[in-house]
Amino acid sequence: MKAVGINGYGTIGKRVADAVSCQDDMQIVGVTKRTPDYEAMMAVNKGYPLYISVPDREKLFDKADITVTGTIEELYDKIDIMVDCTPEGIGARNKKIYQEKGIKGVFQGGEKHDQIGKSFNSFANYSDNWGVDYVRVVSCNTTGLCRTLKPIDDLCGIKNVRAVMVRRGADPSQVKKGPINAIIPNPPTVPSHHGPDVQTVMYDLNIITMALLVPTTLMHQHNLMVELKNPVSVDEVIDHLEATPRVLLVEADSGLGSTAEIMECARDLGRPRSDLFEIAVWKESINVKDGELFYMQAIHQESDVVPENVDCIRSMLELEEDSIKSIEKTNKNMGILE
Ligand code: NAD
Repeated sequence: MKAVGINGYGTIGKRVADAVSCQDDMQIVGVTKRTPDYEAMMAVNKGYPLYISVPDREKLFDKADITVTGTIEELYDKIDIMVDCTPEGIGARNKKIYQEKGIKGVFQGGEKHDQIGKSFNSFANYSDNWGVDYVRVVSCNTTGLCRTLKPIDDLCGIKNVRAVMVRRGADPSQVKKGPINAIIPNPPTVPSHHGPDVQTVMYDLNIITMALLVPTTLMHQHNLMVELKNPVSVDEVIDHLEATPRVLLVEADSGLGSTAEIMECARDLGRPRSDLFEIAVWKESINVKDGELFYMQAIHQESDVVPENVDCIRSMLELEEDSIKSIEKTNKNMGILE
């Protein structure tokens, strides 16, 4: 069992901790918290050894009566790899520390590709990160784009992609973020950074993206227009996506015509935190016209990158050479639909 630490037990960190815990080739030996809040208490209740990420804040944990196992300095000595889930920009700074300590590091999409050196998506470039020391799992939006574009590229080749992404304004718990009543071109310039981000894992893909922020917290929504190299029918695309792991075809006709209804269905699935790790593609939206494929999809931003983090650890620690076997193992252990 490889020893994994989580630095930053927030939205992504707590989910990755649970996903690692249900695998049989890796285990969580500690998670870190900077603030003694309810998430810190819940980490202790779940049995995760809790370490303080900023050691001079120990008194705050004492005052909150939260039992800690030690400081992050002690955690470094116990792990093979740290999954850094700290807020955007902090991970790149932490990379230097991990290098000094001689431990590997997985980073999240808030970090810049150039600062980490390599980026990861389970389907696009698993083997390129074999044994690598520092790797970034691409963002929730980029993961969503890769999950469907990679199988389509495999099926019929892609000449170029145009995508318009409607992004959630904030995660459900982010009370200080917005917008509350506006649609914000974000960025107002074209292209957005998402296309180049996809190219950090699907290196030769021609892709241009535009993005908006809207007042919702549930999911992102993407609209894709894909010029194809080879002819393909709608049915072939549907069959191929249906057979693709971590992609779920949903039908507006069966009551799943919005992100709200898709997340209600995710609640009904009874998974932890009602997460939907799969990318939901609206079946009715899939159309092919004059060599161009059109489709719409929804992304649960808080959870789609979580299984990718597990596969990334497996590739970096050389635990499983075959990406498909890793994906299957992660899915089975996390209860992800086949
Ligand atoms: P978050 O704010 O929910 O969690 C971050 C955690 O790190 C918190 O527990 C916070 O207390 C802790 N922290 C803050 N400063 C720290 C420090 N100096 N050292 C150690 N820990 C510290 O953030 P998040 O949404 O989980 O985002 C983490 C990373 O994942 C970011 O790079 C983000 O861009 C990326 N990401 C977020 C989402 C999403 O929708 N939330 C999706 C995909 C990727």
